[in-house]
Amino acid sequence: MISKASTAMAVFPCSRVRSGLRVWPGVRQLCFRKGLLYGFLRFFSTPLKTLRGASRSLRVNQFCSVVNLSSALQIELVPCLKDNYAYLLHDVDTGTVGVVDPSEAVPVIDALRRRNQNLTYILNTHHHYDHTGGNAELKERYGAKVIGSAIDRDRIPGIDIVLNDGDKWMFAGHEVLVMETPGHTRGHISFYFPGSGAIFTGDTLFSLSCGKLFEGTPEQMLQMLSSLQKIVSLPDDTNIYCGHEYTLSNSKFALSIEPQNEALKSYVAHVVHLRSKGLPTIPTTLSIEKSCNPFLRTSSMEIRRSLNISDTADDAEALCVIRQSKDNF
Ligand SMILES: [Zn+2]
Repeated sequence: MISKASTAMAVFPCSRVRSGLRVWPGVRQLCFRKGLLYGFLRFFSTPLKTLRGASRSLRVNQFCSVVNLSSALQIELVPCLKDNYAYLLHDVDTGTVGVVDPSEAVPVIDALRRRNQNLTYILNTHHHYDHTGGNAELKERYGAKVIGSAIDRDRIPGIDIVLNDGDKWMFAGHEVLVMETPGHTRGHISFYFPGSGAIFTGDTLFSLSCGKLFEGTPEQMLQMLSSLQKIVSLPDDTNIYCGHEYTLSNSKFALSIEPQNEALKSYVAHVVHLRSKGLPTIPTTLSIEKSCNPFLRTSSMEIRRSLNISDTADDAEALCVIRQSKDNF
């Protein structure tokens, strides 16, 4: 309910407007006031740049800290390691804070310290070190609970709460749907916040690519296809928060196999602009990815012609060729 106040934020240059939302007027006003207050606090407390894109507007704090003000759930991007992103989740009502995929502790601690916030939850999409490396230190420092897939219960450091496909978990009043999205690893999950129109896809879906199949078998290619299909079934305006800033690099392969895709060319121009200024390309949206990401475009005739995939090949066969071609690109 709260998160459906997103349209109320349309007055802010940094807001994202989700289409088709119907907002209860009381909630709209409540969240408008919250947004106004928060907007003022942010405006006066940190140096900000505002960036407008063709399909979205981001407010950017210094290098690449993004705040999504589209709901009472605020999402802040925290750069980690070389190209990883962790995400701070902040519920405005309760002050509850969580972090998704902290590959290291220090940048997360710094971000929390700047905001004088505590940490209650650590959410892991999968067990790889560059998504869980900060777990132990953050858990010890803040007493945060670690949440991950039941399949990864033996390989996610410090795990406290195990979740399964289809589970609904509540983050400070925000419903979180757990979606098993295997392929990159067996136990990979994505966290979908339907009220906020946000999904944390870890290393399953990137902007313009998908994750490598580290535990790869032919079955895992089918799993990846199924995982991507699950994500594609979400609303087009869903914001996608993935685990890495790979977009510019991914764009080279995408353009090489679909050079006539006008949406892709336009998006890549935007990505080049963002990266030239050291700004993040994340979040992306499902709409952008459906138009531009070759791994979601297995039926594209241009891609099939580029990679000699026959017209009769099914999606799994096409995905396999696209993955192999990118691995060798
Ligand atoms: Zn990974």
